[in-house]
Amino acid sequence: MVLLDGKKISNDIKDEITEEVKKMKANGEKVPHLAAVIVGNDGASLTYVGSKVRACERVGFESTMVRMSNTTSEVELLDKIHELNDNDDIDGFIIQLPLPKQIDTQRVLMAVNPDKDVDGFHPTNFGKMALDMSTFIPATPFGILELLERYGVETRGKHTVVIGRSHIVGRPMSILMGRKGFPGNSTVTLTHSQTKNINQITSQADIIISALGVPGFLKAEMVKDDVVIIDVGITRVPDETKTKGYYITGDVDFENVSKKASYITPVPGGVGPMTIAMLLKNTLLARENKFRK
Ligand code: NAP
Repeated sequence: MVLLDGKKISNDIKDEITEEVKKMKANGEKVPHLAAVIVGNDGASLTYVGSKVRACERVGFESTMVRMSNTTSEVELLDKIHELNDNDDIDGFIIQLPLPKQIDTQRVLMAVNPDKDVDGFHPTNFGKMALDMSTFIPATPFGILELLERYGVETRGKHTVVIGRSHIVGRPMSILMGRKGFPGNSTVTLTHSQTKNINQITSQADIIISALGVPGFLKAEMVKDDVVIIDVGITRVPDETKTKGYYITGDVDFENVSKKASYITPVPGGVGPMTIAMLLKNTLLARENKFRK
């Protein structure tokens, strides 16, 4: 069994980006600038945004964190987005999800200038991705592709089962694994909460990408020998014995499934760190696209 080490690969990618930034500086170019908008005080969201800002510092990007209160109205958030769209100093920005209930997430994501949409959530970018056009690929699916590629995991002709159909992970992942190219060329089954006999489907899979957010969902008896497992799930389980008051776990019963798997991602240290690295990569792309214009 090979552990797909997202921590190591994400550090390699950050080192590569750092080199690019050094070259930009040496050429007198402006370095990439990422902004992150966070609305409210959700603990997990604050942690994620904090990690993104620290990652920017690590590679030499500029970063801006925009904090807005929990009572922010949709109009106020849209105003902020228009401001960021018009600010030439900002190359890319993200709106940390989830947003408070009074705000329509889809309307907000539609307001982001697609050229600055480094999360790849805008319909223009999602459509381009589905049509195999060059664009921002959402960071988590992009990170999974990168892991498969760098470890040389064969995907051609394989049966890939994706669990979960969210717009940010499962749905784009199912499209990307079925596209022509590498990683891709898989035969894809997209499963969700309404799927019947999911055990039968997963037990026929060569590759399983699990993104549902249910700890320990995927058990050893649901997979075949030599399966490739990508565990996207991140759940905080309350635990008073931990200093933070919780521990992080994935969707997969790692202890038992890893005994049957050929490749598997750990949680933490698998897909999570890759997501941040690929957000940086998209921001670099945003800067370069702009520079060529
Ligand atoms: P989401 O929007 O909550 O969607 C969950 C999906 O799982 C839905 O499509 C749902 O089906 C499906 N589902 C729920 N219960 C199921 C069951 N019993 N059997 C089969 N499918 C089931 O989730 P998400 O935003 O994609 O996130 C999924 C997990 O990944 C979460 O733990 C999240 O924290 C984690 N995540 C990690 C990263 C990372 O960087 N590693 C990034 C993003 C998300 P329906 O559509 O029918 O409701």
